[in-house]
Amino acid sequence: MKVPLLDLVGQYKSLKTELDNAILRVAESQYFILGPEVDKLEKSLCEYLGVKSAIGVSSGTDALLVSLMAIDIQPGDEVILPTYSFFATAGVVSRLNAVPVFVDSDPITFNINPELIEEKITSKTKAIIPVHLYGQSAEMNRIMEIAKKYNLKVIEDGAQAIGVQYEDGRMVGSIGDLGCFSFFPSKNLGAYGDGGLVVSMDEKLGEKVKLLRVHGSHPKYYHKIIGGNFRLDAIQAAVLNVKLPHLDSWSEKRRQNAALYTKLFIEKGLAEATGKTTFDERNKVLLPRAIYESNKDNVKNYHIYNQYIIRTQNRDELRAFLLKNEIVTEIYYPVPFHRQECFANLASSKGKYPVADFAADNSIALPIFPELSTQQIEFVVEKIAAFCEK
Ligand SMILES: *Cc1c(COP(=O)(O)O)cnc(C)c1O
Repeated sequence: MKVPLLDLVGQYKSLKTELDNAILRVAESQYFILGPEVDKLEKSLCEYLGVKSAIGVSSGTDALLVSLMAIDIQPGDEVILPTYSFFATAGVVSRLNAVPVFVDSDPITFNINPELIEEKITSKTKAIIPVHLYGQSAEMNRIMEIAKKYNLKVIEDGAQAIGVQYEDGRMVGSIGDLGCFSFFPSKNLGAYGDGGLVVSMDEKLGEKVKLLRVHGSHPKYYHKIIGGNFRLDAIQAAVLNVKLPHLDSWSEKRRQNAALYTKLFIEKGLAEATGKTTFDERNKVLLPRAIYESNKDNVKNYHIYNQYIIRTQNRDELRAFLLKNEIVTEIYYPVPFHRQECFANLASSKGKYPVADFAADNSIALPIFPELSTQQIEFVVEKIAAFCEK
């Protein structure tokens, strides 16, 4: 049985007419950059995320970059972020000649460990970028407390977490000074190309991002500040306008798939419970845990499973075995920032990050997309059990 890591064809087929029409509408209007589709999307996302400003931008990476520009990050400024994330989280800091300062992860969620942040703060620290990795919120209360104490800005990297609610019900992205999202096709809300979003509860900051998105120009051709071309295309916005109303139901399907994986791993005796952090005879597979469980009457999107990540020993052999059985998996991510060649000269790369190292060496992302069938999930767990028994 073939089990791809991600198959977007099913989703496209389910909305084909609407999506095709939306793209055609843009072609017929010949209005390709910003414009009414982008305005509509921004308005819908303000409502959905409960924020004052939502600004469509060219990618999740550019959302982070323009956010750092909006809070005036200067060369030499230090920005605290998890060592375990997608490259963009740290890359954008270096691109402004500022300095990424790495922090190790929490052993259960693999998000930034807030208890390790304060020791990294210096007189040069200007901001923290928590990442809501795999679709689960970082510990925002604790992070905001630290930010307030040291007068730091917070930019949330919610690229994998659009529609995630924090424990108090607020949407991630609306908690820090700025929130960033990605519409890369493999994210829970994916465009048909690159796209991203910046949100804020601070309208003035939102206005600044809007200005930076168009080279800092206002009125046209008059520049008080230096921005860039960070605009979202109308075709991407048109596609996203069709998809947004379905986002929560897709995320719910991912949660159901995750729950089925977890149940089967426990039934097969490969794990005792979710959230274990060390391997032993009864826990050959370490399962992800949603730190806040949703209750049935008031379903909250505490974890939207952009990825379902397990940890196993002999990870690379397991992946090869699964691939032989036509099951495709991925590693997010094999190399934490402190071990990246391009960051080798950073003081922060000399630190010890045992939790991130453990994650990098043992993690596997299993297929989790909404259209996955029960049979496919059962097949994946069977094959992992067969490997573990060898
Ligand atoms: C995908 C991703 C980004 C970058 O988004 P793009 O739209 O691909 O530029 C940034 N941070 C994290 C954590 C991501 O997963």
